Amino acid sequence: MKKNDILIDEFIFFVKEIYSESNIPLHRPVFNGNEKNYLSECIDTNFVSSVGKRVNGFEKNIADYTGSNFAIATVNGTSALHISMILSGVEPGDEVLTQALTFIATCNAISYSGASPIFIDVDIDTLGMSPKSLKAFLAKYAIKKGKHTFNKLSGKRIGACVPMHTFGFPLRIEEICDICEDWNIPLIEDAAESLGSLSNKKHTGTFGQMGTLSFNGNKVITTGGGGMIITDDKDIAKKAKHITTTAKVPHSFKFIHDEIAYNYRMPNINAALGCAQIERIQEMLSKKRILHNQYRDFFSETSIHLMEKIPDTEPNYWLNTIVLDSKKNRDEFLNLTNAKGVMTRPIWELMSELEMFKHCQNDGLTNSYKMYELVVNIPSSVPFLKDIKNKK
Ligand SMILES: *Cc1c(COP(=O)(O)O)cnc(C)c1O
Repeated sequence: MKKNDILIDEFIFFVKEIYSESNIPLHRPVFNGNEKNYLSECIDTNFVSSVGKRVNGFEKNIADYTGSNFAIATVNGTSALHISMILSGVEPGDEVLTQALTFIATCNAISYSGASPIFIDVDIDTLGMSPKSLKAFLAKYAIKKGKHTFNKLSGKRIGACVPMHTFGFPLRIEEICDICEDWNIPLIEDAAESLGSLSNKKHTGTFGQMGTLSFNGNKVITTGGGGMIITDDKDIAKKAKHITTTAKVPHSFKFIHDEIAYNYRMPNINAALGCAQIERIQEMLSKKRILHNQYRDFFSETSIHLMEKIPDTEPNYWLNTIVLDSKKNRDEFLNLTNAKGVMTRPIWELMSELEMFKHCQNDGLTNSYKMYELVVNIPSSVPFLKDIKNKK
């Protein structure tokens, strides 16, 4: 096996051949479709804000693409999660099962609803919530009372379960779904990173009561900032639209609002970007798959493991993910690549380590802590096909 630093040098060379950019970001957006046309149209018609055909159109696009009955556009993924918490019935003082290995947005949204997270471990091969760990946690701590499930240790109600499809790799969602059903716990999927990822040919985010997406600038497709709630439940969809639009009662000129609500609707001008982006999502995903295959070739004869899909799933390959054999080699990889203008990134600081969530219950998080030390994301922007073809 090659020494780590030689391998890293070869990696840097390899990535620089793929992307002809001097500083290679982890994930940059690509705007080479109808983005400018649709943006101009918003400006020319003055429909730049929370009403317009683009925001309605983008909702329809996402519903069609994911196969959900309804899609409700929001200002970002965090607000989509916040509204989902409320609509699943999470109340102040509840607890919500989630991962310590996630982006802060998941836990912020839980906190906005007045609940606190409980951290469940992930599977090594998906980096998403482990059904085995969830089942074991509930068997040990949960007790059913009437329609609800409570935590025997804290006495608090368990209001929801929010697993997250990490880096676009689908987790074992069907098993999680069954466990939540057994315990009567509403399931919300944080699918912010997994637009285009399938589990058993079904889109991630469509297994739970609700799923949430993000269109932040670093995601597979972007609206600048934006999010979406997807659901098959008509009542939830109706309420979601209502409370993301200040609970305004429809009227041609009067302003009447029937509850305290949120100004969370995605502006039309942001949705215009989304409408253009989604037209080309298949092309982007197929280029990302080609890139993944190239990384597979590169890493196949090295001591570095490239994360692959589990059976019966199709990831979007949002962020290619490697697992090094020691923390020391991981640190060296991060230092050398970033110093040479190839952006690579470790996993987020685990939520269980952050000041705000340190006190929250967790199940030991063996895999989360292990993977936290070894995993690195490598540049994964949609490459230009000419660059791919020139290789080899
Ligand atoms: C991006 C992301 C979100 C949503 O983030 P916003 O910036 O609010 O759109 C939520 N959860 C995870 C895991 C994410 O990666």
